[in-house]
Amino acid sequence: MSTPKMIKKLLIANRGEIACRIIKTAKKMGITTVAVYSDADANALHVKMADEKVRLGPAPSKDSYLKGELIIAAAIKLNVDAIHPGYGFLSENAQFCRLCEQHNIIFVGPPVPAIEAMGSKSAAKQIMQEAGVPLVPGYHGDEQAPEFLKKHADEMGYPVLLKAAAGGGGKGMRQVSHSDEFFAALDAAKREAMSGFGDDIMLIEKYLTQPRHVEIQVFCDQHGNGVYLFERDCSVQRRHQKVIEEAPAPGMTDALRSEMGEAALKAAQAINYVGAGTVEFLLENDGQFFFMEMNTRLQVEHPVTEMITGQDLVEWQLLVAQGETLPKQQSELAINGHAFEARIYAEDPNNEFLPSTGTLTRLIPPCEDAHTRVDTGVLQNDAVSPYYDPMIAKLIVWDKDREKALAKLTSALSRYEVQGVTTNIDFLYNLASHNAFANAQLTTHFIEEHEAELF
Ligand code: ADP
Repeated sequence: MSTPKMIKKLLIANRGEIACRIIKTAKKMGITTVAVYSDADANALHVKMADEKVRLGPAPSKDSYLKGELIIAAAIKLNVDAIHPGYGFLSENAQFCRLCEQHNIIFVGPPVPAIEAMGSKSAAKQIMQEAGVPLVPGYHGDEQAPEFLKKHADEMGYPVLLKAAAGGGGKGMRQVSHSDEFFAALDAAKREAMSGFGDDIMLIEKYLTQPRHVEIQVFCDQHGNGVYLFERDCSVQRRHQKVIEEAPAPGMTDALRSEMGEAALKAAQAINYVGAGTVEFLLENDGQFFFMEMNTRLQVEHPVTEMITGQDLVEWQLLVAQGETLPKQQSELAINGHAFEARIYAEDPNNEFLPSTGTLTRLIPPCEDAHTRVDTGVLQNDAVSPYYDPMIAKLIVWDKDREKALAKLTSALSRYEVQGVTTNIDFLYNLASHNAFANAQLTTHFIEEHEAELF
């Protein structure tokens, strides 16, 4: 952590909706904002919104948003106090965080050792085991000989899940249903991990057949205080990627909520965490839950937590980064109502969800009100380029209870108008209006199980 100081000027090392989201809060706090951009984003909304702007380079991320040294140089030149990395790009890059520290720039995120500790899924599991946080049964050691790994899988019993220790975004994972398939799956997962992450260390987990993905939002300050801002249910996934998220998790009891919240705080405290973090768990029907990983950044789906707690998590991040104590104690936090988030993508559900690029010739989101929020980084006539994640917006709705919030979600989806690219809006509408979804029959296989009715 850099020495605490007031943040007067903030550089946002990101693009799209999250850059815009961060700029909004910075403005509210009276902080001057600096946007960075690639050639593809010269006229992007986040650049228009910021007080100052710096060009990084050509469109590809590796020549622009991933160029840590360029971003630091810009920050120094413009006399920036802090850098907010958003999510993705450099947000969980310990080297970038270290560079910030070296130049006495506040990195709005956890300290280097916490990022490093959670950077490897196997190392993270080791730490969590020692801290007494429940883990999915499995193997996460250093010995990687294929025969040795297979022996573990055989003993554990199939199905098992192979996971790349360095993995993320659902990549480098392979489910293995039978001993005969083990070596082929291991080869494939290792290859994918090596090409995606430059590291093919694997861990093995018991494959849970009907779990829910429930994650806990935690927040810690530099003075040893920590709170949890309850849970999000992100079970509705496609290829291990979240599609619709909600908070609170349906059917959660107060007892389980505080048990999971305390476990998440224990996880954060085990690595001296500071800032916003998310501890992801798999939750089984019988209430057993298991640590999967901790994301050491602001999550895409943080708005549902903001909606049910009435807190601004980016504001919390900035306050904590400048050395202040947490704005609220645990006893001052409560859940109010229910919120959903749907990720609106330029992609084609009828063609393997391939990204759809082009100009947004018509873009009319549902009207925003106190309970309907659209986090976006694009305006009508902007282009969805092939260079970045093709997310158009996040649609977030809130109401007093789940049923009402869901009605709001389907209504807002039906009013969302986009032309010029193909979108997943109809798919999201079908999902949100499905009976099983209304009845909260959620598991991570929801989409596969109801495939026939969703397209
Ligand atoms: P990534 O970092 O690539 O997103 P995670 O470890 O967070 O990978 O897992 C992503 C998703 O994969 C989870 O949300 C869940 O749907 C599924 N998953 C992960 N581990 C298991 C497991 N042991 N059993 C069943 N499903 C799992």
